[in-house]
Amino acid sequence: MDVVAHGLWGGALFYPQGRKKFIAGALLGMAPDLLSFGVFHVTHPGWISMRLAGEISGPPGLSILPPYVFYAYNITHSLIVWSVAFLLLSSIMKKPPWLLGAWLLHILCDIPTHAASYFPTPFLWPFPTPFVDGIPWSTPWFLAANYTALFVVYCWLFFYFRTEAGIRA
Ligand SMILES: [Zn+2]
Repeated sequence: MDVVAHGLWGGALFYPQGRKKFIAGALLGMAPDLLSFGVFHVTHPGWISMRLAGEISGPPGLSILPPYVFYAYNITHSLIVWSVAFLLLSSIMKKPPWLLGAWLLHILCDIPTHAASYFPTPFLWPFPTPFVDGIPWSTPWFLAANYTALFVVYCWLFFYFRTEAGIRA
């Protein structure tokens, strides 16, 4: 799924718990992509300007991506890594780090929204993963359905939780 939608879904998960948790949820929701593709985009501004100018289309080709993008993508998109982090933080903090739910949601959303040909979700990494050949999130009807769902969910959240969020923020 695209990074903006990931952030909005992660934020929605924690919206009822106030502004700080909302922002943390949104950031953690985006983190798996920011820590992999984000690093590539920040270090390759030329690619973004060519993409925005329409000189190239689609996502960065696999051949131009440096190896760290693949390593980081494996680590940040693995349910195994997520589980280890969750258990570790649980024992350190003496309570479950529920905010990591936004990271978990990111992985779960990516599994069915990536085709096997471009960054299928390595959800069992470092173990062999039976990749899912999903519907690419850039498919127009999926983008429309996803943002419509986000719009409906945020309308509902604003309506039911605006007072609580305002007080707790
Ligand atoms: Zn992702």
